[in-house]
Amino acid sequence: PRPRRGLQSRPRPRLLPGPAEDTRGAAAPAAPAAASPARAPPLGSAAVGPEPPLSRSRDRTPGEGRPGALGGRSGAAPGPGPSADSPVPPAGKAQEEALQERYRLGSLLGSGGFGSVFAATRLSDGAPVAIKRVPRNRVRHWGELPDGTSAPLEVVLLDKVSSGCTGVIQLLEWLELPDSIVLVLERPERCQELSGFLAERRFLPEEEARGLFRQVLEAVRHCTSCGVLHRDIKPENILLDLATGQLKLIDFGCGAFLQDTAYTQFAGTLSYSPPEWIQHQRYHGEAATIWSLGLLLYHLVMGKHPFRRGQEIIWGRILFPRRLSQECQDLIKRCLSMQPLDRPSLE
Ligand code: AMP
Repeated sequence: PRPRRGLQSRPRPRLLPGPAEDTRGAAAPAAPAAASPARAPPLGSAAVGPEPPLSRSRDRTPGEGRPGALGGRSGAAPGPGPSADSPVPPAGKAQEEALQERYRLGSLLGSGGFGSVFAATRLSDGAPVAIKRVPRNRVRHWGELPDGTSAPLEVVLLDKVSSGCTGVIQLLEWLELPDSIVLVLERPERCQELSGFLAERRFLPEEEARGLFRQVLEAVRHCTSCGVLHRDIKPENILLDLATGQLKLIDFGCGAFLQDTAYTQFAGTLSYSPPEWIQHQRYHGEAATIWSLGLLLYHLVMGKHPFRRGQEIIWGRILFPRRLSQECQDLIKRCLSMQPLDRPSLE
């Protein structure tokens, strides 16, 4: 294990040790999430964590956290970093207190195998934030921030994508407690998971779906331009700001550094994994992303996942209603090509 350095954050908290829970990789029982005073979409999706073998109960895998506000981006190296069991500085209590002094904790937004996410308010300026707490023993992958600080991979990835795109949730700061990692994230005051929004609307008119899909594409493109692969794109990981209509990609807990070569370990949600993973246990980042985007677009215009039947994935012919334009049908079909090379590029 490498020596851990202090936290870095905007305002600059320090490493804290803290309480723990369970995190990713483990099946996450669905938990209710109140994304805002307005609504509380059912959270809880199961996902598979980054690189580690999947494990998930529902659909998605949770992620890790980050201390301190990060700023820059740049190529942080995916170093192995300290393990979840590595020793931590004994500054836990002070850090915990510092956290409580600076934020007022509100309702639970979501919880599961990855830990818990709470709504909170930053006391200095009343800004709404989300506080995500991940037990240390659930953090399987560590990396390095640009300044050499060791941090959970989720923090490192968020650090890389956190500026320059409003479609990606911003990491404001992260802290390390004795037995948990705390991430303080931007939180739209009134928001809802896209999954909950779709469940209420059943499906969206194509024009509306187009605007939302475009926002997701721009966010994903931003991530890849920063060298980050999200790996768990699905309606549960997209927040809709109900005041502005803006979407925000959340939960980089299954993410990875973008690489040209094939990935041979899965992280994410099995029902969103591409056929090449199911059949050959390998996939390329962009092709797998396009597959999940095809599923997302189908979900937007049809109100459901095209293949999921319970926990099974059954590929088959995709049937579309007449109301869908040929262009929309064509785009979905191309994104859901069985052969990765037949799928369109992100561009
Ligand atoms: P995550 O583990 O990051 O997917 O978070 C679990 C749930 O907490 C999500 O599905 C959201 O409903 C909620 N959540 C996470 N991050 C935020 C955020 N920044 N603002 C509001 N809600 C959030």
